[in-house]
Amino acid sequence: MPELRRGLITQKWVIIAPERAMRPSDYRTDGDEALRQPLENCPFCPGHEHMTPPEVYRVSDGKNGWRVRVVPNKYAALTSYPELGRAGVAGFFDRMNGVGAHEVVIETPDHDKELPDLTEDHLKVVVDVYALRLRELMKNGWHRYVLLFKNHGSRAGASLAHPHAQIIATPVVPGDVRARLHVAKDYYDRKERCVFCDMLLQELHEGQRVVAEVDGYVILAPYDSRFPFEIHIYPRYHAHDFTAMNEEQRRGLARVLRQALGALKALLGDPPYNFVLQTAPNPVPRPGKPGYWATLQYDYHWHIEVIPRLTRVAGFEWGTGFYINPMPPEDAARYLREALEQG
Ligand SMILES: [Zn+2]
Ligand SMILES: [Zn+2]
Repeated sequence: MPELRRGLITQKWVIIAPERAMRPSDYRTDGDEALRQPLENCPFCPGHEHMTPPEVYRVSDGKNGWRVRVVPNKYAALTSYPELGRAGVAGFFDRMNGVGAHEVVIETPDHDKELPDLTEDHLKVVVDVYALRLRELMKNGWHRYVLLFKNHGSRAGASLAHPHAQIIATPVVPGDVRARLHVAKDYYDRKERCVFCDMLLQELHEGQRVVAEVDGYVILAPYDSRFPFEIHIYPRYHAHDFTAMNEEQRRGLARVLRQALGALKALLGDPPYNFVLQTAPNPVPRPGKPGYWATLQYDYHWHIEVIPRLTRVAGFEWGTGFYINPMPPEDAARYLREALEQG
C-alpha cells in the first residue's frame, strides 16, 4: 500500500509507492549516448585550456599539467557586478541585478574517469578545492549563498561528459534553503539541539536506512527519499559549515564520497545523478536584522544529497511539490549495503 511520508527538514510530502517497485537491475543504465562527442571538442580535456575562460585556480600535477582546474562558467547564470540594484518594477515585481558568480570545477584531466574512479588522494584534492572556492566566494558580501552541485549525465542536466562540478553564488538565500534553515532554527529554539544530530541518532538506532558509517560520516537513504536510491551524506559530528572542515575531516569526506558513489555505480551502472551540497549561508550581517543567523552554528548541519535521476518528474510533482518514489528507502539502503559488501 502506498504511504505518504513527510520530510522532517523539507516539510514536504513524498509518496512511497512500493507496489510499483522494481529491482535495481531494472534501473541500470550504462553509458550516456547523448553526451558522447569527439574528445577534440571537449573544453575540459588537457591541451584545450584555451577553450575555457581564463582559469581562477589550479592544482598542479607537479609537472606541467594539472590535477584540478577551476574556471568561470562560459555561460554564467550570474556574474560579478558593482551593485545589486534591488527595485520593485512598476511597484510590484521584484528585480535585482544578476550579481553573483558561476564557476566550474574540472575534477580530473581524465575525460573518462568519474569521481568514484579517482584515487582517494585525488578525491581529497577535489574536496579541498570545493572548500577553498566556497570560502573564497563567501568573502564577497553580495554572495549570500554559495551552492556547490554536480550534474552527471544528460538526464541530470549535464551538457558535457567530462567530470566537473559547478559553484553558483547567489545574491539572495534561495527560498528552499531558507525554509530548511528556519526548520532547523525553530527546532533549536524549542529544544536547544540540532535537528540533524537528533535525526542521525534516531537513524543509527533504527539502522534500516543506514547504508554505511565511514570515518565520521553517515550515508543514509533518507526517510522521505524523493527518488529511487537517493542518498544523503552527513558528518556524524556536528558541523554547520562545509568550509570549516579540517584536513582529516576532508580526507574522511573523500573516502565516504568514493564509497557512496561507488555503491551507486556498482548497483546501477552509470546512473545520471545530481549531487548538491547543503551548507550554511554566508553569515554576512543583515542591516535591520540583528541576530538573523545567531544560532546557525548550533542549529544547522551541512550535508550532501545525491539524487539519481532514474524516474522523471512530471505533472503531479509540478502541481503538488510531492514526489512519487517507487523504491522504499529501506530497500534502497539494503541493496546499497549489499553492493558495498560485495565491492
Ligand atoms: Zn574531456
Ligand atoms: Zn548537528
